Amino acid sequence: MPLCVHTITTKPWSLEEALEHYPSAGVEGISVWTDALNGRKSTSAGRQIREAGLEIVSLVRGGFFPAETEADRKKSIDDNLALLDQAAELGAPLIVLVCGAIPGQSLQVSRNQIAKGIEAILPKAEALGIRLGIEPLHPMYADNRSAITSLGQANDICELLDSPNLGVTIDVYHTWWDPDLKHEIVRCGSADNIFSYHVCDWKTPTQDMLNDRGLMGEGCIDIKGISSQVKEAGFNGFTEVEIFSNHYWSMDQEIFLQKIVEAYRLHT
Ligand code: ZN
Repeated sequence: MPLCVHTITTKPWSLEEALEHYPSAGVEGISVWTDALNGRKSTSAGRQIREAGLEIVSLVRGGFFPAETEADRKKSIDDNLALLDQAAELGAPLIVLVCGAIPGQSLQVSRNQIAKGIEAILPKAEALGIRLGIEPLHPMYADNRSAITSLGQANDICELLDSPNLGVTIDVYHTWWDPDLKHEIVRCGSADNIFSYHVCDWKTPTQDMLNDRGLMGEGCIDIKGISSQVKEAGFNGFTEVEIFSNHYWSMDQEIFLQKIVEAYRLHT
């Protein structure tokens, strides 16, 4: 599977710097975080990316559907509808959904709100030809980032809403612990619902719940094993490197990019 890097992985770089360095390092795809587009027109950013020889894999990230009030839930749907327009302007075929959660609200209530939110934006996604990938997050983020904490729950929503434009994003960091992972990969693979695949590694000890992710090979995740299960399930898209790391963001990003490429070759 070819290599894609998320703009947030090299957060100290602007989009323009990423475009300057990724292709010569052997990176073929880019997943664009919305903050990388700040102050830029999405249509021209999309053109610049394609002219640099990179394929746009996804726009990251939509979602965050749960909210305490009806008005806030509607605002979230409106934000996601606007994000679909932005993806169309950029030329991104996929939006990754981090589904959201509210501290103190039951996870089941949040899951129902997530399903309703996705259902509300699906017609526009279908009309624009943009796919939505539900990314389950590790349960340590179930307080405020995602009530969808396993691939099985993501698969449930895909099967409930049953649209060719709705599938899953599998991230090894969030799913590696799950005893049902292999079975659930087969389940979404047989429905053609694997839309994208993210890698990094789980360090021991992890110093920060959000910003201490490791390079592939640096931690305990069986990345090669999960990659082959995903491939066997029919996915043949990009291997996307998505690393949030205060440690790596503080180093020379050209050296970090070389390490990413090497880790991708050796450990994915
Ligand atoms: Zn991810």
